[in-house]
Amino acid sequence: MAKILFVSSEVHPLSKTGGLADVSASLPQALAELGHEVRILTPAYGDTLERLGAVPERSDWRDPVAGTTTRLRETALPDIEVPVWLLDAPGFSDRSGNPYLDAQGRPHPDNAERFDLLARTATAIAGGLGGLGWQPELIHCNDWQTGLVPVRMLQHRIPGATVFTIHNLAYQGLFPASAFGSLDLPQWLWTMDGLEFHGQLSFMKGGVGFADRLTTVSPTYAQEIRTPAHGWGLEGLLNRRAAELTGILNGIDHRFWDPSSDAFLPAHYDVRDLRGKAANKRRLQAELGLSQDPKAPLLGFISRLADQKGVDLLLEAIGDLLEQDLQIAVLGRGEAAYERALQRLASNHPDRIAVRIGFDEGLAHRVEAGADMLLMPSRFEPCGLNQLYSLRYGTVPVVRAVGGLADSVVDATPAHLESGRATGVTFQDATGSALLEAVQRALALYTQPELWRRLQRNGMRQDFTWQRSAARYGEVYEEALAERRRI
Ligand code: ADP
Repeated sequence: MAKILFVSSEVHPLSKTGGLADVSASLPQALAELGHEVRILTPAYGDTLERLGAVPERSDWRDPVAGTTTRLRETALPDIEVPVWLLDAPGFSDRSGNPYLDAQGRPHPDNAERFDLLARTATAIAGGLGGLGWQPELIHCNDWQTGLVPVRMLQHRIPGATVFTIHNLAYQGLFPASAFGSLDLPQWLWTMDGLEFHGQLSFMKGGVGFADRLTTVSPTYAQEIRTPAHGWGLEGLLNRRAAELTGILNGIDHRFWDPSSDAFLPAHYDVRDLRGKAANKRRLQAELGLSQDPKAPLLGFISRLADQKGVDLLLEAIGDLLEQDLQIAVLGRGEAAYERALQRLASNHPDRIAVRIGFDEGLAHRVEAGADMLLMPSRFEPCGLNQLYSLRYGTVPVVRAVGGLADSVVDATPAHLESGRATGVTFQDATGSALLEAVQRALALYTQPELWRRLQRNGMRQDFTWQRSAARYGEVYEEALAERRRI
């Protein structure tokens, strides 16, 4: 069992823009339950501190690069025994809202400095920061925001191991070359084998190039990112490191996502008794102003509104979808053009399409519970959590077979229905017509209540708990620690 510092730029419920936040609360807890000694390190954004009120300070020091005083505060998360260390420093605590973007949706101009400070703080903790009385043997880094941790560890010869998890390779933390100079990094890193990426500074390359071990969030995505189609220019480096790269599917946390106890739901249900699901559908239709029709299939879509998620495929298919007797509930926020297009559709068909633009945790749970199907026509999907939640909630996922979606949803082919393995409907092509065809297949199953129930129950019985995945991370930690000992 190891001492692990888990570093992440978002941790639910302190801050969240996507799945990373959920993972960063649940995986550390599952690791602790296996016997590891874990601490979480995450920035204290302004609104986090406002919500928490007075948070005790554990340590402070003057960061030599930023030239400012940086504080570590300690807090606890609900139902989680792992202590959380909040990095309280200018650049984080004086900004609220989105961790990466300003109110106009533009990246903060000092993101390189902000997240390098996170890396330097992790390194300082590994080096034995005063006031903490605790040093990790291994730092688990997550996505580009932590990409400089392995680099700073090597630069300062701190003797801990590092594991870097790619949650989404599409976001690489690219900055102009001038940022490299301002971060006071050793010049030898400004090469193709270091942090340079076509004339820019890449935080992602720090993690991918220098961590002792790499993981990503599904076995299929681990293969996909080694190809030009999904490698975003890093496929060569990832192929060189293929022996050190492992795909581990994310889990779901039943303390927050379980239809038999979910605090956001008006009615509860489980695999033995699904009656509460109908009540959730009724209430959701009322909440969203959809017509109160228990028979009309209700299709959910909960997502960042970005190209990755195939919003355009949904928009392409929606005209034809509306020819069928069905309803659609969309919850999301993101690119303005997608937001506008969806809102226009909703205003033309208010009783059949409901669109809520924004981030609403409670509504996300209620859509998962109240919808009959959940659509995920993603262009690429490292893991995807919503389809795992859908399976648990008896909401049949209709997904494009990529990344973690391919690893978690079993298509309702006649053979899979026969053998009891089917849990959803999958399709291959990233086109509106392929999505439409998949929904039509799902609708055909929906008209056969017994078959549909079976599909729902198969999904609800799947085991996507964190315990199994956390044990796999434990094996990767062992490898990284063994490698450090060898060096
Ligand atoms: P990604 O991390 O790429 O955005 P995931 O499927 O891995 O996608 O995780 C998305 C997480 O964010 C899920 O917990 C989902 O419920 C949540 N989510 C996405 N959009 C919204 C929204 N608009 N309101 C509330 N929750 C959302």
